[in-house]
Amino acid sequence: MTSFDCIVIGSGNAGCCAAFSARESGCDKVLIVDVCPPEWVGGNGFFTAGAFRTVHEGLQDLLPIVNNVSAEQAGLIDMDPYPREEYLRDIMRLSNDKGDPVLAGALVDASRDTITWLATKVGLPFMFSFHRQAYDVGGRQKFWGGMVLCTDDGGKGLIAAHQRALAKAKVDVWFNCPALEITTENGAVSGVVVQKDGEKIHLRSRAVVLAAGGFESNPQLREKHLGPGWERAIPPPLEPARLATGLAAIALAVWCVGDADAPKDGGERILTNQFTKSGYPLGIMVNSAGKRFVDEGEDYRNYTYAKFGRAIQNQPGSYVFQVWDSKTIGMLRKEEYGDGIVKKIFADTLEDLAEKLAANGLEAKGEFVQTVNEFNEAVKSYQAENLDSAWNPAVKDGMSTQSSNKQLSLPKSNWALTIDKPPFMAVKVACGITFTFGGVAIDPDTAGVISEKTSTTIPGFFATGEMVGLFHGNYPGGSGLMAGAVFGRRAGQAAAKLK
Ligand SMILES: Cc1cc2nc3c(=O)[nH]c(=O)nc-3n(C[C@H](O)[C@H](O)[C@H](O)COP(=O)(O)OP(=O)(O)OC[C@H]3O[C@@H](n4cnc5c(N)ncnc54)[C@H](O)[C@@H]3O)c2cc1C
Repeated sequence: MTSFDCIVIGSGNAGCCAAFSARESGCDKVLIVDVCPPEWVGGNGFFTAGAFRTVHEGLQDLLPIVNNVSAEQAGLIDMDPYPREEYLRDIMRLSNDKGDPVLAGALVDASRDTITWLATKVGLPFMFSFHRQAYDVGGRQKFWGGMVLCTDDGGKGLIAAHQRALAKAKVDVWFNCPALEITTENGAVSGVVVQKDGEKIHLRSRAVVLAAGGFESNPQLREKHLGPGWERAIPPPLEPARLATGLAAIALAVWCVGDADAPKDGGERILTNQFTKSGYPLGIMVNSAGKRFVDEGEDYRNYTYAKFGRAIQNQPGSYVFQVWDSKTIGMLRKEEYGDGIVKKIFADTLEDLAEKLAANGLEAKGEFVQTVNEFNEAVKSYQAENLDSAWNPAVKDGMSTQSSNKQLSLPKSNWALTIDKPPFMAVKVACGITFTFGGVAIDPDTAGVISEKTSTTIPGFFATGEMVGLFHGNYPGGSGLMAGAVFGRRAGQAAAKLK
């Protein structure tokens, strides 16, 4: 069969949502093509934490769709609502107002309803993200950072659920099948040329949805769009083959803070998202010259990991050390910092820690000890002036390094605690790319691709996910998968109208 009602390019979260939606909305013959082999189905989605950021009205709003909360546990949860204004403000403030406000508004407005669709129609197994987005404060689980939902078993659970939904909906998926060209007739999309079993074939369809992800796996494109040195950053695990869209990708990407020992040239399908190292708000980060380089307490982790990853890439050698003492080591998430997950460097004195870090790339032992000592002095000075303040990782507690007696030139604005109680622990981290920004412009209602020449949509041509130009410079964690779902669903609905 070479004729379809809708062809989706890419089997990631965005493509799966588009294909399911097309089928649900009335397309009989829906095909997904993916360049990857079957065991790599799901694109980057497989490697995620499965975190979805949505507008919500608080605990009672979301309880009906999660599977990991008993009535007794529900009574011990503190969860503030996350209104549309806050979500929108988060996208725009993190992008320095350079994100697309119209697409951002559409994403935010549709997010809650799309979560219900994902849970009830697609069958995603949602949970509250206790392990990533909440801290135990006085026996209660206090959520922070706006985002509360993830899929059971993270990205693995997300993609498994998508596969089940597609199989049930009888959507065909062709693997090892790169899309080479989108064809048009009289200005409207007419199909896709793909490579299948060594042959080029023309598949006909009035609707084609681009969901082929970003350019992060391609070192040449990274160097071209992000600059020299980026060809060496740790990419996500996808195959380098990418759709040649000829689009002017905006040269910006999202970065995350990742394990320095993560595989440099391919995915690790067991540990996946566990290579991220997001415990820096509980400690400090120091570069190979022994200096801090970011305000680790500037904001909640899920608002800073992208830009801090980029800051790490720009440090000498493109690696740094995260450092804690015994007060917070026990609070680090086991998935990221557990035994066997990452190389942990322990010592009983700061001098001994500096010695051990020197064997792992620290170039300035004396500077390192001085940095930590100065940091400790500044924290003590703040605490002496603010005897009533209490350290609380679940709120922006204002416990900083800045007091009337002492200020650091680079503050830690929240969650500042001394690093003086052994054992000390450090982990070496590098920058990993989460996804790339920039891509096609789309109509917010239909996800129809807008032609640069005519500023109108191209009939039959849709895009969703990472291929869409929505974010810029930084983004609120969990909104990548959400955007793929919102616009994938709309693309599928619009595709069905062309049948
Ligand atoms: C470690 C990590 C953790 C993350 N965690 C989260 C999270 O918890 N929440 C969140 O919102 N975001 C997260 N992200 C970002 C998220 O992964 C992306 O935003 C999202 O997966 C993009 O989905 P997509 O479907 O658009 O593209 P992709 O997942 O990149 O899928 C694109 C697919 O298209 C295929 N393809 C490419 N070119 C072609 C071609 N020419 N022909 C056919 N097929 C092609 C690829 O093989 C791939 O399967 C994370 C990213 C990483 C790396």
